Amino acid sequence: MRNYVLDAHTHTLACGHAYNTLLELIEAASQKNLEMICLTEHAPELPGAPNALFFANYRVIPGKIKNVKLLKGIESNIMDVDGNTDIPMNYLDCIEIRSASLHTPTFKPLSKNENTSAVLGAIENPEIDFICHLGNPNYELDYEAILQQAKKDNTLIEINNASFFVRKGSKPNCSWIANRCKELEIPIIIGSDTHFASDIGDFPYVDQLLNDVSFPDELIINLETKRLIDYLEGKGRKLFADPRDAARELFS
Ligand SMILES: [Zn+2]
Ligand SMILES: [Zn+2]
Repeated sequence: MRNYVLDAHTHTLACGHAYNTLLELIEAASQKNLEMICLTEHAPELPGAPNALFFANYRVIPGKIKNVKLLKGIESNIMDVDGNTDIPMNYLDCIEIRSASLHTPTFKPLSKNENTSAVLGAIENPEIDFICHLGNPNYELDYEAILQQAKKDNTLIEINNASFFVRKGSKPNCSWIANRCKELEIPIIIGSDTHFASDIGDFPYVDQLLNDVSFPDELIINLETKRLIDYLEGKGRKLFADPRDAARELFS
């Protein structure tokens, strides 16, 4: 097993269908010696997800707790065939890392062309950093077109450990995607997509898959926190704002 130091995809009970607090996630991450986690809470259009002010107020949360660095982020929903998402645009500056996903409550599977168009639109959006769980067989997708676009736009591709047991049938798709990312030299980012704290930072299925396709370590973001920080700062993102500059003005 590689030494993964960060988990890029986690959820708390704020989303309505996960079961731990942020501090419980941090505690579990600390026990596993993770150096960083990304809180990528579900965006407002998913039923039960928090409203826009949840994200607006992120700056009150310290950027490091119990020696675990925290990036405060969002897993946005791809809403239409143009790839528009439900990121609260008024509060973009408060959200340090942003992913985009197809989820059935917010995007019913359409034709292969339409599904692909939706994902391509999200990839072309420079505010989006990575695309999640593309291996999901519920959505027929043109993976070649998607990965070519991700290469062109410098968008990361997630390999999601939970897909191997939550989204049945993902494995051959994830395998194809990982192999093609290797050939095209597209960096991948790994997420547990944990909805329960004990899963945090555990990527056994992804690790095996990466072995199977001889995936190069240099292209795995999760092996060094610097890789993710450099990627985001390279896009001009301001990270780890001082909580003393919190969103007081928002409510004053
Ligand atoms: Zn998701
Ligand atoms: Zn998720």
